[in-house]
Amino acid sequence: MTENNKTCAVIGAGVSGLGAAIRMRNKGYQVTVFEANSFPGGKCSSESQDGYRFDMGPSVFTMPQYVDELFELSGKNPRDHFNYVQLDPVYQYFFEDGSTLDAYHGKEKFAEQIAAKTKDKVADIIKYLDKTETIYKLTDEVFLKNSLHRLKNFFTWPVAKGILNFGKIGAFDTMAGANQKAFKDSRLVQIFNRYATYNGSSPYLSPATLNVIAHVEIVKGAFYPKGGMVSITASLAQLAKDIGVQINFSTPVKEILIENKKVTGIKTDKGIQHFDIVISNMDVYNSYKKLMPSVKRPAKTLDQPKSSSGIIFYWGIKKEFKELGLHNILFSENYEEEFNTLFARKTIYHDPTIYVNITSKHTPEDAPPGCENWFSFINVPNNQGQDWDMFITEARENMIQKINRVLKTDIRPLIETEMVFDPRVIENRTSSAFGAIYGNSSNNKFAAFLRHANFSKDIKNLYFCGGSVHPGPSIPLCLLSAKITTDLIK
Ligand SMILES: Cc1cc2nc3c(=O)[nH]c(=O)nc-3n(C[C@H](O)[C@H](O)[C@H](O)COP(=O)(O)OP(=O)(O)OC[C@H]3O[C@@H](n4cnc5c(N)ncnc54)[C@H](O)[C@@H]3O)c2cc1C
Repeated sequence: MTENNKTCAVIGAGVSGLGAAIRMRNKGYQVTVFEANSFPGGKCSSESQDGYRFDMGPSVFTMPQYVDELFELSGKNPRDHFNYVQLDPVYQYFFEDGSTLDAYHGKEKFAEQIAAKTKDKVADIIKYLDKTETIYKLTDEVFLKNSLHRLKNFFTWPVAKGILNFGKIGAFDTMAGANQKAFKDSRLVQIFNRYATYNGSSPYLSPATLNVIAHVEIVKGAFYPKGGMVSITASLAQLAKDIGVQINFSTPVKEILIENKKVTGIKTDKGIQHFDIVISNMDVYNSYKKLMPSVKRPAKTLDQPKSSSGIIFYWGIKKEFKELGLHNILFSENYEEEFNTLFARKTIYHDPTIYVNITSKHTPEDAPPGCENWFSFINVPNNQGQDWDMFITEARENMIQKINRVLKTDIRPLIETEMVFDPRVIENRTSSAFGAIYGNSSNNKFAAFLRHANFSKDIKNLYFCGGSVHPGPSIPLCLLSAKITTDLIK
């Protein structure tokens, strides 16, 4: 690394802020990260209670190469600092009719296992997965690896190819529409529709382009980081420190300082600090609202409808359930009605699809012997001032009843410790606008173009990274966001 005696402030130590800090330090900048919390990771953090450890946010880990890349860039062997195992099966799906389906890794294995238990044929399932692979190949460079807001990026062959083949990426159909046409078995339709929730959207509104997520998870694979998801952000925070990034915890940034349409630094409770470059990893909506209220906000991108949020019960369960794995889904009976309830009526659904993540299946120390740590999640609307205390009470009851029904058990007496997150907590803990987990929703075909750019068009040397800006949410996309942002800084 060649020092360039320039300075860079990164606001927020979320996974993207950490990625951006590591990349800027490798470019030779003196980098200081300002983090409001006393811990790194933002949404990707961890808490412990009564002998149980929980990952508080993300739980499904794909595209680990983008974490590894940051160690390699810094001249380190990732395997000395961060490790993961490939999952197979990836998911266990449970239906109200008592049936179960397991999702295995790889096109053939997935198709054979599913075809054996559904009305759909191996060849049709493989044909569908081939289509999702085509979408991936056509969109990867266009949407995920470059800024969509620099004209010159459109004059490269991979991007031109993507644009010329626009008809093949499913932009003109909804995800649910495409999946309904592809499969006979409604359970398979439901399994593939669920991928819309990976960025907080409805499969009945979002474009079939999002079917690409199935390719990433089923074919490219899902992984479990040793030590849980928090080891991603903990190891990146350690890497940042090791290469000389200064991280200031419990130091919320109060203002981004701007003079003559150029960034000059930031202000915290400790005073003003000057920087050549400022990268905000704070949700872009709140970056404008709270850190630079006098700057004209790009209303068209900032005011797009926001994604869903979640109610999560972190339950210490004093029993082991052999029928459950790391990732378990208990599906609602009427998926379309569930999404209508969340996105049109903005309330909670009485028969929610429940996701139960149990890291103690892989990391036994995450729970006392004979027990399990259940991260039990349902999708809910973002925070529009609803009565969340009432929703939490209702959701808890609905979830317990559903789990009891589907697993033919009674978990009520097994819950020996409990924490709960709702959209208000997510909003307070990470400054995510309206407690939306994934920034703007993808509930229309132009959503990808309506995310905020990785730079400010009006203010020089001001950049943005993270799940609320291009290319979007999730650990891998946030790490790509950090790369796109820092690649723009020459
Ligand atoms: C419940 C849940 C489940 C999820 N599941 C998955 C999953 O399975 N797989 C997946 O890949 N992704 C998942 N995600 C999404 C993923 O976690 C996020 O997209 C990603 O972690 C967002 O990272 P980020 O860098 O954008 O910022 P965030 O994690 O939002 O962090 C932003 C940071 O900035 C700090 N900050 C904000 N304002 C200021 C300020 N003014 N001054 C200083 N610091 C500030 C915050 O304290 C925070 O630490 C999930 C998220 C949640 C909440």
